[in-house]
Amino acid sequence: DLLVVGSANADLVVGVDRRPGPGETVLGTDLVVHPGGKGANQAVAAARLGARTALLARVGDDAHGRLLRASQQDAGVDTAGVLVGGAPTGVALITVDPSGDNSIVVSPGANARLTPKDIRAAGPLFASARVVSVQLEIPLETVAETARALSPGARLVLNPSPPAPLPDEVLAACDPLVVNEHEARFILGGGAGGTPESWARDLTALGPRSVVITLGAEGALVSDTRTGEAVRVPSPEVRAVDTTGAGDAFTAALAWRLGLGEELTEAAAFAVRVGAAAVTKEGAQVSFPTAEEVSAL
Ligand code: ADP
Repeated sequence: DLLVVGSANADLVVGVDRRPGPGETVLGTDLVVHPGGKGANQAVAAARLGARTALLARVGDDAHGRLLRASQQDAGVDTAGVLVGGAPTGVALITVDPSGDNSIVVSPGANARLTPKDIRAAGPLFASARVVSVQLEIPLETVAETARALSPGARLVLNPSPPAPLPDEVLAACDPLVVNEHEARFILGGGAGGTPESWARDLTALGPRSVVITLGAEGALVSDTRTGEAVRVPSPEVRAVDTTGAGDAFTAALAWRLGLGEELTEAAAFAVRVGAAAVTKEGAQVSFPTAEEVSAL
């Protein structure tokens, strides 16, 4: 089974002609509320592909929390690990201007209250998880506890988003570390130079057993210390409409296929197809494909 440990947010979206300045009020379009957050997105993406998936997350005792639980259940995710209370559900306040640019304020809310203790109390979920997927929209100490809670033989898949400095202990547990170009550069300490191959080499030197770098329309680069090889995995060509959630769909698909026992390169070859399918539709969770839609690509 796949266990996703991570965030659940309500995305509150309003279209505006222009953003308000300090002290100013502008009128926007009708509010649209979407379930989001990287953890919730990954769990839905995996379940829609057919993966047996559980989500370990924290939401508030409020309408947004109930929306998130319902959207997980609709997708077939086991929500026994969705904890309630401590703070309001996390929200992303999003304004979209006519050129399509987003401005986003995130209130982490209950996501910031998912504690190492919550991880330790979730023993049964970890016991049945062959792969555990985690991101950085929850406290870093909770991510570190997640790395310690893996069952023998289970793999940790980490997407360090939003990027933050990672303890050696967490880096060493990653198999793989999944980054886009921006996250790769951040973890390597900035700098514009290098190629995906050189980033993969430098990231591997930080301790993970394997590294996957997603490269948008170019697909992904997979690097595994077991084989000592770095392999490019091209993405199918599609008409990209909205790339929101593509990385979450990719990572969820990768984690699921690794749990089925596939090699990293094989799993990545499936995941790029899932990522590509996700960019052909608007939105995040609503854009995630079923297994049939991936085959049809
Ligand atoms: P993120 O969304 O985290 O920035 P990427 O942009 O690298 O990550 O996208 C993740 C994956 O989604 C890619 O590896 C690829 O499979 C797919 N993808 C993203 N953009 C495109 C695109 N324009 N065409 C085809 N596939 C895409």
